[in-house]
Amino acid sequence: MHTFILKTRESYFPYTRWHMLPLDSVTLTGGFWSHWQNLNRRVTLQHGYHMLEQAGNLDNLRLAAGLIKGQYRGMVFLDSDIYKWLEAVAYELHVNPNPELQKQADDVIELIAAAQQSDGYLNSYVQVVRPDGRWADLDFGHELYCAGHLFQAAVAYHRATRTTTLLEIATRFADLIAATFGPEKRQGTCGHPEIEMALVELYRTTGKSAYLDLAKFFIDQRGKGVMRGMGWMGAEYHQDRVPVRQADRVEGHAVRAMYLNAGVTDLYLETGEQALLDALERQWRDMVGGKLFLTGGLGSRYEGEAFGDPYELPADRCYCETCAAIGSVMWNWRMLLVTGEARFADLLERTLYNGVLSGLALDGKHFFYMNPLLSRGGYAREPWHHVACCPPNVMRLLASLAQYFVTYDDTGLQVHLYNTAVINTALASGHPVVVSMQTDYPWQGQVKLSIQDADGSTWRLRLREPEWCSNATVVINGQPVEKLTTESGYVVLERAWRPGDVVELTLPLEPTLVEAHPRIDAIRDSLAIQRGPVVYCLEAVDHPHIDLMDIRLDETAPLRAVWREDLLPQGLMVIQSSGYVVDGEDWQGHLYRRLSDRDGLSRKSNPVPLAAIPYYAWANRGANPMRVWIPR
Ligand SMILES: [Zn+2]
Repeated sequence: MHTFILKTRESYFPYTRWHMLPLDSVTLTGGFWSHWQNLNRRVTLQHGYHMLEQAGNLDNLRLAAGLIKGQYRGMVFLDSDIYKWLEAVAYELHVNPNPELQKQADDVIELIAAAQQSDGYLNSYVQVVRPDGRWADLDFGHELYCAGHLFQAAVAYHRATRTTTLLEIATRFADLIAATFGPEKRQGTCGHPEIEMALVELYRTTGKSAYLDLAKFFIDQRGKGVMRGMGWMGAEYHQDRVPVRQADRVEGHAVRAMYLNAGVTDLYLETGEQALLDALERQWRDMVGGKLFLTGGLGSRYEGEAFGDPYELPADRCYCETCAAIGSVMWNWRMLLVTGEARFADLLERTLYNGVLSGLALDGKHFFYMNPLLSRGGYAREPWHHVACCPPNVMRLLASLAQYFVTYDDTGLQVHLYNTAVINTALASGHPVVVSMQTDYPWQGQVKLSIQDADGSTWRLRLREPEWCSNATVVINGQPVEKLTTESGYVVLERAWRPGDVVELTLPLEPTLVEAHPRIDAIRDSLAIQRGPVVYCLEAVDHPHIDLMDIRLDETAPLRAVWREDLLPQGLMVIQSSGYVVDGEDWQGHLYRRLSDRDGLSRKSNPVPLAAIPYYAWANRGANPMRVWIPR
């Protein structure tokens, strides 16, 4: 065995099974995700910049810097949208140097520097609106939350450009926070987790252990039951009901819960404290066992944008904020690193193709905040939101997406997600390892991996066998592998790899019907259509003259996958099937009737063809009615 590369503190966490490759080690060079990355690169990032100008985010900083006069605009956390945009730009610059884009970002960084106060403090809302009110409202003030997004942007920008201006702004503020909060200092933490994972990242980049200590301090502050909660919800809204080591369920505000768990997992990655991992595992099982939507979406309630009770998963009133899905990707990614178990990659993939991607329109310029699984019409993506957390979150995820595809350990490489890509890394000896991956995934299940450079030494290539697939096959250099070794959901291929070796992985992709746990009351006796990782839906525009609420699925009808180049800009795989339209006329304007009154009425239903499209693509042809779950 040969050790793979690069043991730096920035990428090599002590308590982990698998390790991250530097962002530019994997390049998505074509196919499904390359399209979305290009859209983000060409359209979404610039749209975001204009919206930050239009919504007042940048003006708020100019006010704080004393460069203009006027009123603060928007919510208290508007600075965070700028930082998330900068983080997205940083990932973009890391893989695609672009002097024009860097100039635009450097100008924003100059503005941030101008707004920062002499002692390091930085928050445009507090500086402009309540200058005497630093740290006055930890529960809802979002000062530490905004600081966290600043730190994440600074770390990403430093890694991308090796410039230090933003990192210096971040560390000056972090030093002020470390001088303000801590044991023997001010107690308390932010109502919105975020700074925890940011401080761990700042520690990894600077090597300053005070930042790791501060992350642990903030995590340990939770669970004292002192936060105000929201509406009828108590401290659980803020994940403040129980200490993190005692948590046994996901609860409260879904984005807060995901961000906190990502931060706690980061702390585990550095400290290896078992009690943290045990609590995370309990929460994960609670989430997937009762609080997860088919799309990977999270948050059943509008009240508090929160998790509901187990099995409370309403299709129409689910919240499923785009940020909660992104938070789930971030948390599941860290759990995957820690454990090396495919279940976390499976959920990451489900969430990515469905609950996250639906957040962005095919034009790259409109966004969902909530991602329901049923719409009666009238719900559409918007160019920006009053609370605009989701749009720049989508931008930074798409720009950094390649980091989730491949990891390494002392035995070799692990491939978690499939897309046309080039993987470029090296053995500890310095000899390069270059693998090219070609696939039409998720539309086709064939993945071809070609070894372009290797030194002939023996190492293991692990390929994830997705949860929806139980019969993967592998052919190496034209020879089928008769007995596949699998481990924790990964096919393990060990051999002396040489340039020219070709691995062909086939994941049979058939459309399937999915049923839900019978305790999920809202969708009982309904079915959904899925093909590979992609969840499908019916949209009214494909079913003219039919009310989607009247449709029943014929579960005996065959499901046919048909490529429709014409349907939406880049083409879509459509699933054709058939069902019935139930005639509701005999209800005569009533909602309810005695069951006995049904006797004697004819129950008419007419067969109709159905055409399901990928869930992520709905509402790109108008604010149509849509449903994922279809009654039998
Ligand atoms: Zn959001």
